[in-house]
Amino acid sequence: MLDLEVTPLKLATMELPEFHPEAPGLDTVYGFLVRDQDACVLVDTGVGMGSELIDRLYTPDRVELSSALAEAGASQDDITAVVNSHLHFDHCGNNSAFPGVPIYVRQAELEAAKEPHYTVPEWVWFPEARYVPVEGGHRISSRLELLSTPGHTPGHQSLVVRSGRHVDLIVAQAAYTAQEFSAFQRAGLSQPDEMDSTLQAYVESNATWSETAYRSSLACLHGSQPRRAFFSHDSTVWTREV
Ligand SMILES: [Zn+2]
Repeated sequence: MLDLEVTPLKLATMELPEFHPEAPGLDTVYGFLVRDQDACVLVDTGVGMGSELIDRLYTPDRVELSSALAEAGASQDDITAVVNSHLHFDHCGNNSAFPGVPIYVRQAELEAAKEPHYTVPEWVWFPEARYVPVEGGHRISSRLELLSTPGHTPGHQSLVVRSGRHVDLIVAQAAYTAQEFSAFQRAGLSQPDEMDSTLQAYVESNATWSETAYRSSLACLHGSQPRRAFFSHDSTVWTREV
């Protein structure tokens, strides 16, 4: 069977806020286009427009979603489904470009997003928004499956792409960097002492909801024996060490 195409889309660059382990510096936001025979799925929609607070805190430099899709050989009309890994502002900012298109989000994340300061509410709730609340594992198409990976947020999810006999993962923000993802593969998941302090700082800053859940989610992701893994904030594509 043919490999499925996973195309990272660079959607924005932002200035890192103070609390980030690598601040000051820049953070890049990626979405992903996944094309299957029966689906064309966009994972995450980047940073939206019109929030004075976000513009002031992060000074985002956005790539037009339509341009990013065009560069990948697709258009907004091709998208049959949207997946939000979670509903922080830099992952759902252009959801409104997809009225009536099913947007797969975990129920727990829809609940979390109602809390104050969680996200930019108007980027989540817009007229004709068609959220499909997901609980448990959920197949979007024959070879695309959503996996619950809480930790960064209560309702974070990743996408399992079964490509030929391989598994590719859109980890999204269940790990912040490929390096961190690798460290979990090597060290096992309950041995934080074996992680160096830089990686430990990443985990602590990224596991904003639950570090225990974060570690379990990474165990679960590695348990799928992935060939490759893609991240929301790191352009490095992780590949299995053989
Ligand atoms: Zn986030």
